Amino acid sequence: MPSSGLFGPYALTHENIDLVVLGKGPGAYVLGPLNEDANLVVYRAGRSDVDLNRRLHDYVGVYTAFKYAFSSSAKVAFEKECRLYHDFDPPDNAIHPDRPEGANWTCPCCLIFD
Ligand SMILES: [Zn+2]
Repeated sequence: MPSSGLFGPYALTHENIDLVVLGKGPGAYVLGPLNEDANLVVYRAGRSDVDLNRRLHDYVGVYTAFKYAFSSSAKVAFEKECRLYHDFDPPDNAIHPDRPEGANWTCPCCLIFD
């Protein structure tokens, strides 16, 4: 199993998100249940371009645990999401991560945008 390079896992509750995901900015995350070794099984990978904390709140009640990391820019968050998508092949990610409108960024792992 590849390493996600993210902080956590934490139980996915509104309280926990506000306790650990401090501030407002772009970032990437993974969501899923914990296995018997308390490791997060990645069901979904994602990112927020502007507010990681707020995005995570959308998934409370849908998944039980999360891991996260802020990124220095929306582009870095996008590239992190791409790596998570390719490393873990999350079952709930039906399609490849998309770019924000107008961005000409490419995936660091595949040629989908070339
Ligand atoms: Zn890709």
